Amino acid sequence: MRREKIRRLNSLLEIYIDTNVDKDFSVLSKKADPFFIFSRDGQLVYVNDICETLLEYSRLELLHMKLSDVFVPTALNETQTFFFEKDYKELTSFDSQVRRKLGALLDVNLTTFPILFDNEVVGTYVVLKDITLIKKERELMSEKQVAAGQLAAGIAHEIRNPITAIKGFLQLTMSEYKGKPMYFKIIESEIDRIEAILKELMVIAKPTKIKHKKLNVRLLLEQVLTLMESQALLNDIQIEKRFNLEGETVLGDENQLKQVFINYIKNAIEAMPDGGRIQVEGILLNEDSVQIRIIDQGHGIPFDTLSRINEPFFTTKEQGTGLGMSVSYKIIEEHKGDFNVKSSTDGTCIEVKLPIMP
Ligand code: ADP
Ligand code: MG
Repeated sequence: MRREKIRRLNSLLEIYIDTNVDKDFSVLSKKADPFFIFSRDGQLVYVNDICETLLEYSRLELLHMKLSDVFVPTALNETQTFFFEKDYKELTSFDSQVRRKLGALLDVNLTTFPILFDNEVVGTYVVLKDITLIKKERELMSEKQVAAGQLAAGIAHEIRNPITAIKGFLQLTMSEYKGKPMYFKIIESEIDRIEAILKELMVIAKPTKIKHKKLNVRLLLEQVLTLMESQALLNDIQIEKRFNLEGETVLGDENQLKQVFINYIKNAIEAMPDGGRIQVEGILLNEDSVQIRIIDQGHGIPFDTLSRINEPFFTTKEQGTGLGMSVSYKIIEEHKGDFNVKSSTDGTCIEVKLPIMP
């Protein structure tokens, strides 16, 4: 960007900070969440108290720092592409790493959103969440979790058979019953719900059955879309494909990876009760990775829930299981991929990066 423009945007940002920060940030509970604001040239221009504590620098020191001083070099590249992405207009959430003054590295989850002033993006808010503990716990728990996951998957499998039998006999009874069918409908829909939960639980862990093989990404996506298209049409939703992939392959488990995209597309459909369009993009990002995006025109994910969507059992839906996102996230992690989400009230973009085979 040209110097003059930067200068102009920076002076707008200054006005914004003087007049609006306190007002806007009461919603984010100014005391609880560490946050800073940086300008379009990457300079920190505002930090709150708790951010000083988190990063161990004084406010004065922080205000002389740039993004590149806060984030560790390995995380910086990716972090910067997020901060300076072209469409820039949305809420974004992703994990990164910062270096504190005394040298310790800190895992953080960042939620960023642009500051619009006079119809221009003049700077960016960055809210940090310390996830060091969560990450450590996750590592410690992972062994236990694998065992518990296997157990859950095993139990889910065992329960599925009797449920199928119950469902079958219920349907038989229903067809012969002459009274009011209402109770049957409730039983049936509750059984459907149990089945949905079991199905997702079974995906969580069945390491013995996971087979990693060479998978053509484009083919995999096409197959997922064939599965999902009828459900989309029922909801008055068009799925638009945009692929610039040919024979690129990833190493992975076919069913698990399909499950990932099915989960995301399902959520996209559920976010658009009045219909609309879902874009499914598959592109070759660079020589090492492909990027798959699912972009919907739904109601979006509000700020305070954005960082929670990958938590197991987190749901905002009356009939939700809260497992789709967490299962998908786990699968992506296991495939050494990356997950990111962007959302505004105009819709949501789920972004998955996967390493391709040479
Ligand atoms: P469920 O769909 O059963 O609620 P998920 O784990 O799939 O569980 O999703 C968790 C939550 O994340 C949803 O309840 C919803 O609030 C939010 N969410 C996920 N994807 C989207 C989307 N595309 N649009 C809006 N909200 C979404
Ligand atoms: Mg879901």
